[in-house]
Amino acid sequence: MIDLRSDTLTRPTPGMRAAMAAAEVGDDVYGEDPSIARLEAQIAEMLGKEAGLFCVTGSLSNILGVWTGVEPGVDVLCDADAHIVRAELGAHALLHGVTTRTFGSVAGRATAAAIESMIIPDLGPFLVRTGLIEIEDTHNFAGGTVQDLAELRAIRALADRHGLRMHLDGARLWNAAVATGIEPAEVAALFDTVSVCFSKGLGAPVGSMLLGSRDDIARARLQRKRLGAGWRQAGILAEAARYAVDHQRARLADDHAAAQALAAEIASRTDGVVGDVPTNIVVAHVAPGTAPAVVAKAADRGVAVSAMGASVVRACTHLDVTLDEARTAGVVLGEIIAG
Ligand SMILES: *Cc1c(COP(=O)(O)O)cnc(C)c1O
Repeated sequence: MIDLRSDTLTRPTPGMRAAMAAAEVGDDVYGEDPSIARLEAQIAEMLGKEAGLFCVTGSLSNILGVWTGVEPGVDVLCDADAHIVRAELGAHALLHGVTTRTFGSVAGRATAAAIESMIIPDLGPFLVRTGLIEIEDTHNFAGGTVQDLAELRAIRALADRHGLRMHLDGARLWNAAVATGIEPAEVAALFDTVSVCFSKGLGAPVGSMLLGSRDDIARARLQRKRLGAGWRQAGILAEAARYAVDHQRARLADDHAAAQALAAEIASRTDGVVGDVPTNIVVAHVAPGTAPAVVAKAADRGVAVSAMGASVVRACTHLDVTLDEARTAGVVLGEIIAG
């Protein structure tokens, strides 16, 4: 099976397993795991933030990041296809009383114009007001879209004018950086809090991080414990994440090339099904209602992909998929979609 359902499917490489086996560990709830402390310091420095908090998932680091930015009942603005509203299963509302309103976009590209029209100032104690803007880079369900830096700067200026906080869901900020050559810190600088994942294309088995000010991270650390997600000797996982960042980041370019090869095979057999493929995610727009059938037929032919909606099929390239396998998958998908 060529498994392209997600880039979370990667398994730890031999070098990563060796780094995990050699990890120095301690009890992190007591603040005594040196591997976690080192990873938090390293990533905070890389992203130009004061502090970091190692978390079990990107969902948790988003849940904590948004929580540090808004009180209950205050509005969060995000894309209609954002991971925080589609794939975190209502957690922000359930746990923290967060309400969201969503803005539209073309292919996941956030614009200051779309966001500005949604901002509600404080109009008194009978209407929600906007407190935070959330942006995803790269945008997952839209097809690995990289946000435009000039537009992000315009959104930051808008947020400053309205006194709003900003949270970045940078699960694949590493992919964005490889695609654009822009340092992740330059994007992170525009946000109050940032979440990044080690468990996607970077290939760590587990782990994400929330970055922000020292105060926000101290508060998030308490809330993480309250939610039952304090770590003990998780330095074994921190060393896997550190290995991923140090040794498996540059090769994300290979995943991007494989995704483009896959999309090219689909494009040569179909019309208007795939658009640009900026990073490691290929989104195919198939006839309405047919996505589950396309997924089932592909599985019969040894290619695993996901239906992300009635007419959207998604394939992710990653560490455990070769360029040839990606091409083969593109041929299979192209033939099935062409009928
Ligand atoms: C994968 C992902 C996350 C985090 O997912 P977890 O499975 O909770 O680690 C967050 N945001 C985006 C955009 C993602 O793709």
